[in-house]
Amino acid sequence: MVEVQNEIKQYHNIINGEQVSSSTRATMDSIDPSTGNVWVEIPLSTKDDVEQAVSAANDAFTNWSSLSSRERGDYLRSIGDLIPQYGEELLTLETKNNGWVLDEFQYLTIVLKQIWYDAAGSASLIGGKGETVQLGTSSFGYTLREPFGVVLGILPWNAPLFTFTIKAAYALAAGNTVVIKPSEHAAVASLRYGEILAEVLPLGVINVISGLGSEIGESLVSHKQVKKVSLTGSKGTAQAITKASVSTLKPLIFELGGKSPNIIFEDANFEQAINGVIHAIYTPNAGQICAAGSRILIQRTIYDELIAQIKEKMQTPGAVKYGDTLNTVNTMGPIANLPQYHKVCSYIELGQQEGEIVFGGRTGGHTLLPDKPEFVNGYWVEPTLFKVDSNSYRICQEEIFGPIAVAIPFDTEEEAVKIANDTNFGLAAGVWTSNLGRAHRMIKNIESGNVWVNTYSRVGADLPFGGFKESGYGTDTILEYTREKSCVIEIEDK
Ligand code: NAD
Repeated sequence: MVEVQNEIKQYHNIINGEQVSSSTRATMDSIDPSTGNVWVEIPLSTKDDVEQAVSAANDAFTNWSSLSSRERGDYLRSIGDLIPQYGEELLTLETKNNGWVLDEFQYLTIVLKQIWYDAAGSASLIGGKGETVQLGTSSFGYTLREPFGVVLGILPWNAPLFTFTIKAAYALAAGNTVVIKPSEHAAVASLRYGEILAEVLPLGVINVISGLGSEIGESLVSHKQVKKVSLTGSKGTAQAITKASVSTLKPLIFELGGKSPNIIFEDANFEQAINGVIHAIYTPNAGQICAAGSRILIQRTIYDELIAQIKEKMQTPGAVKYGDTLNTVNTMGPIANLPQYHKVCSYIELGQQEGEIVFGGRTGGHTLLPDKPEFVNGYWVEPTLFKVDSNSYRICQEEIFGPIAVAIPFDTEEEAVKIANDTNFGLAAGVWTSNLGRAHRMIKNIESGNVWVNTYSRVGADLPFGGFKESGYGTDTILEYTREKSCVIEIEDK
């Protein structure tokens, strides 16, 4: 395991292949959410740093986009080859920064490598493969797919390495150059990742700049040389970005939040469904994943029995183990930062007014880890389930982004669809059934970008991952990072 130093270390922006401080040398503290203590310092960048990062990416664009797609693919494949070497270091930094338990995280190394390889493969699908059409007798036409130029990737705090990779890999494959803006709450792994990538890629092709979204977000988004923006984050930020991009009519990709239903029918395999429900909301990153199955819809005939079984499973000794996130025996990390911790705690209070608590509800390191003094000030929250009689409560409609779920009963398949779709979000849904016809009907009728039947959270390089409704639009795929040009050539001499 990579050792995490005790002294306060500084991480730097990556601009034009170099590690640089912010132009004012100002820094922000990065907090370890397990302890609530300052862990490292990261740059607090300004508009001058934005200018430098964007202009480095812009200067690098001509050469990078002029490479053959095969040459770009070779670069990306070589990054994929490096992932096993740096995976543990990167995952350790991310774990320490956002509280995701390392054990849950191991598979990410495989996923990251797959994405770089997939992007490398798709690079060679792009170059010069447009369809040629005859236009009458004297001319023909064809299409080209071209990169935009500088692409800006804005990352959330909950999954920096994954979102960094999925944005950078496909944008670079298409011939764009990239500026990444990680979240102020969890920038460390991204700054180190940028440093590793910059050693492989030509100067300026990848740049990483850390700062407050409220301070440098608008200057990044509205910058004339930034040609496309991809945000993974919240609706409020998407609205701010939409406003900032109006003057330049910039194309946007938004991967936003969710309030995803996980629907269990009476004909489901209960054991599978219970494991699926627990994995969908509690263990992965303490519910801080966009696709979290936070609304558990259970057919009324099995409602009480299933809830009792979920409770029993969650309370089995060892099922939930809090503690050092770097120790792979632990299954549950803290909430990733203080504002988010306060938000989750406020929903636990609200849930007690709107529903009936089945299990959980306790918060704080002093309560959950009383015998571990180093964690008493950490942002720990117990996995919590509320029974509710209607989907209309705020705890059923608002994204909490923590280990908090609601259990809602339904009678018929039609009612399950109605409740599933009764939300402003549309990111993901789980369906647990042994009836194949029902599985197909549910897939067809649920309004969300991802539907998983008898499984949950199957995300990787093989399929696009995007949302419907207020969960966003667009996906981080290679086609989204290209624009199509129609070309016509007159072949008859006039
Ligand atoms: P957030 O919207 O608060 O911040 C996201 C990023 O936007 C940060 O880097 C932040 O600095 C930046 N930002 C903030 N204001 C900005 C502005 N005015 N202009 C430009 N950038 C600005 O989101 P978060 O709290 O970091 O992440 C949690 C949210 O992300 C949740 O809603 C979650 O569901 C969502 N999410 C979605 C997906 C997905 O793939 N759909 C994946 C992970 C997280």
